[in-house]
Amino acid sequence: MAINGSCFCGAVEYKVNGKLRDARSCHCSMCRKAFSAQASAYAQVEPEQFSWVFGENLLTTYESSNGAGLKFCSICGSTLCGTYNGKIHGVTLGCVDGNPEIELGMHIFVGSKATWETIPGGIPQYDEWPPKNA
Ligand SMILES: [Zn+2]
Ligand SMILES: [Zn+2]
Repeated sequence: MAINGSCFCGAVEYKVNGKLRDARSCHCSMCRKAFSAQASAYAQVEPEQFSWVFGENLLTTYESSNGAGLKFCSICGSTLCGTYNGKIHGVTLGCVDGNPEIELGMHIFVGSKATWETIPGGIPQYDEWPPKNA
């Protein structure tokens, strides 16, 4: 089953020929800025299973100093995927189309969430990184 994702304006689309894994929401202050939201909602992919369907030339990449980067549509600003040391690392769940057959597994960096956010219950919450085997 292929998973597709696209940006708000529809100019960029990607495909994942495989499964998403480790879906989580991070509430740290950097994710709030990077994702323009109360938290990130992000899942990892195998880099070789990810490909752009169209619009790759419209992407802009922002790389922060720790090797993590984000690729976003230069027209509408949707953040589509994350990179690590230049390689595709994962996708933002907000831009996935349809049902990716994965659900958020945990909330992380809850200890630094925004004062205005109330996190819904139901899945584990960790103040920072989850314990190794979570
Ligand atoms: Zn767009
Ligand atoms: Zn974060």
